[in-house]
Amino acid sequence: MTVPTIQLNDGHHIPQLGFGVFRVDPAETERIVTDALEAGYRHIDTAAIYGNEQGVGAAIAKSGIPRDELFITTKLWNADQGTQSAFDAIDLSLEKLGLDRVDLYLIHWPRPDLDKYLESWLALEQIQADGKATSIGVSNFHVPHLERLAAGSSTVPAVNQVELHPTFQQRELRAYGAEHGIAIEAWGPLGQGKYDLFGLSAIRDAASAHGVTPAQVVIRWHLQSGIVVFPKSNSAERMRENFDVFGFELTAEQMAAIDALDAGNRVGSDPDTATF
Ligand code: NAD
Repeated sequence: MTVPTIQLNDGHHIPQLGFGVFRVDPAETERIVTDALEAGYRHIDTAAIYGNEQGVGAAIAKSGIPRDELFITTKLWNADQGTQSAFDAIDLSLEKLGLDRVDLYLIHWPRPDLDKYLESWLALEQIQADGKATSIGVSNFHVPHLERLAAGSSTVPAVNQVELHPTFQQRELRAYGAEHGIAIEAWGPLGQGKYDLFGLSAIRDAASAHGVTPAQVVIRWHLQSGIVVFPKSNSAERMRENFDVFGFELTAEQMAAIDALDAGNRVGSDPDTATF
């Protein structure tokens, strides 16, 4: 199965469906990412703070999959925001991943209280110029943070990776992204299992209409909404289920019914106030 790609504002392409490894135990990561690659995933989303870049790298090395068929994202942790600290952080991430470049490097959180995200963004521009990251972007940025980057730099982030699921749809950030050419990536696309997403009737009804699972409906909703999505699962069976979403299409009515679930239901941290 060839996963559709989205063209980023720098001309590079990102596979729209990937595999995320937040809270994947470092000791289990090599096996779990190996399972994901065997299931067909070629886009892996990790982060320095997940502590599992080494396992991701080991799975990549063992797979024998050509580097240019893979899309690997990692992220600059908050404690490493700055200039030299960002240069050191990407070097350490690349060493752990066993790669000479990542496809996408993100500022993980804006942490406005630190007041270093613009400086960090300028460092990411240099990291991109040095060839250590093919594309650069941000995560958990709100419109004022994006506007500050726009005023203080010459590069528009290729992506903004934000919490996004049917009851938290991020319409303002998606509209800003559409206007400025910033692709939207959903984290927690299944609501991180923190509420009964799969019990909502719009999702259940679409699942029974297509003979698929509620999780497949939700992933399909992300894809048909133009969002990049990388659900996480430790189970090989669920990885395959989450990847098997190209044999059906939600109707306009089913999409509208899920669109109507938006309820401002944030399940993760608020980027304006997070202090970790
Ligand atoms: P998710 O929404 O992908 O939910 C994962 C949960 O859903 C797990 O508990 C899993 O068991 C369950 N699940 C997966 N497939 C299922 C299925 N088919 N049926 C039933 N349950 C299923 O949450 P996530 O892992 O937090 O988000 C995905 C990825 O986003 C992460 O792995 C990470 O790469 C990224 N992320 C980024 C940030 C950020 O700040 N940038 C924050 C959180 C996550």
